[in-house]
Amino acid sequence: MTQTKPRSHSTPHRHSQGGKDFRKRIQRDKQHSNAPASQPASRPRAGDASGRPCITLKEGREKSLQRRHPWIFSGAIECIDGAPKSGDTVPVRDAAGNFLAWAAYNADSQITARVWSWHERDAIDKAFFHKRIGDALAARRMLGIGRDSNGMRIIHGESDGLPGLIVDKYGDVLVMQLGSAGPEHWRDTIADILQELCAPVAIYERSDSDGRELEGLPKRNGIVRGTLPATIEVMENGLRFAVDVAAGQKTGYYLDQRDNRAFTGALASGRDVLNCFCYTGGFSLYALRGGAKSVLSIDSSQEAVELAQQNVALNGLDASRAEWQCADVFEALRKLRDQNRKFDLIVLDPPKFAPTAAFAEKASRAYKDINLLGFKLLRPGGLLFTYSCSGGISDDLFQKIIAGATLDAGVDAQIVKKLHAAPDHPVLLSFPEGAYLKGLVLRVG
Ligand code: SAH
Repeated sequence: MTQTKPRSHSTPHRHSQGGKDFRKRIQRDKQHSNAPASQPASRPRAGDASGRPCITLKEGREKSLQRRHPWIFSGAIECIDGAPKSGDTVPVRDAAGNFLAWAAYNADSQITARVWSWHERDAIDKAFFHKRIGDALAARRMLGIGRDSNGMRIIHGESDGLPGLIVDKYGDVLVMQLGSAGPEHWRDTIADILQELCAPVAIYERSDSDGRELEGLPKRNGIVRGTLPATIEVMENGLRFAVDVAAGQKTGYYLDQRDNRAFTGALASGRDVLNCFCYTGGFSLYALRGGAKSVLSIDSSQEAVELAQQNVALNGLDASRAEWQCADVFEALRKLRDQNRKFDLIVLDPPKFAPTAAFAEKASRAYKDINLLGFKLLRPGGLLFTYSCSGGISDDLFQKIIAGATLDAGVDAQIVKKLHAAPDHPVLLSFPEGAYLKGLVLRVG
């Protein structure tokens, strides 16, 4: 089942420096390469000298791993020895047989393996995950994230050394999302460790993202440990938000915008605010608390808008200053333009238009469209908070799109601040894909 990669009949040009065992395997390969042509190319191979499954990369394709990028794409693989199952830990070797990493194998993904560890001495076992999860928790404690908020991302996948694993904390409830075969394999171990280290009342699993299908994994949504309280709330910088962990978007709430919401709130006083893609009212509540004159919030999800209105009540905020629209933002912005409505502060926080670079062109048009309309709706001196959470749109491209929108809108604008995800969403330097959220605060002339 796992032998989907073309099997190489060539012998690596270089020999492993310390790899006596590997040379034995080369010998075996030579024998195979002399085998009759009728032998199927996908015939399982025995494994490395220890009999253990192993991935060997094509010559020269070890470079990205040497730079510690944790993904191994199918195209970089020369051969897979043995018959690993999805989720199994396998050693990854360069063409000469040198050890590169321990990785979780996934037969069904374009990303055939994701690295757990760069050290041959490491055992990938419960103690390994205990240490990684403990380190991630210690980093959040050190950054003081829990001081003013009881919601935080406690594990941010690759950037916390745990590819494919997301864990968000909402008070004493944890929500975990397993995005690839590695964490899927270690699901129970991870849940046990989270229970031991965090003592939550419940661990809920939201492994129902579309990405699971690309990984060949079934969607899963349900309780893993404990019992869910009747209502789940997150307290963020003194504001309370009800969180629907079972049916809300992502794991129920967008923790990544915490600090950016606070910045918006600090600048909202006396302003007419428009919050587009408001979800459960994050930016809107901060603006209301910050003394905004009015806040118009728009989202296409009826459930989200209803929850947002409940959140206004939950915080005792003045609902008379809040206006809500359940609508498509692209259409709603045109209507507001036609009505000649004007605002002093606009937030544009759309969903991911470009999950990968392949979608960048179409996504660029969508970003330009909403930003152009946003600029037209701003009064002189107004502020635009504009975001992209698309992995397929780089910081540079995003800035260029916004520059194009100002030209078409006929306005001059300055960047007054560049924004990113909050510090509980760190970005590993060797994994730039982790920097998915980019934001610009612009002041129009
Ligand atoms: N700013 C929010 C998060 C926004 S997530 C916060 O701080 O919590 C993106 C939101 O866009 C989702 O709520 C989704 O329902 C909404 N959405 C997606 N497409 C939309 C569209 N075309 N028009 C309006 N809302 C849309």
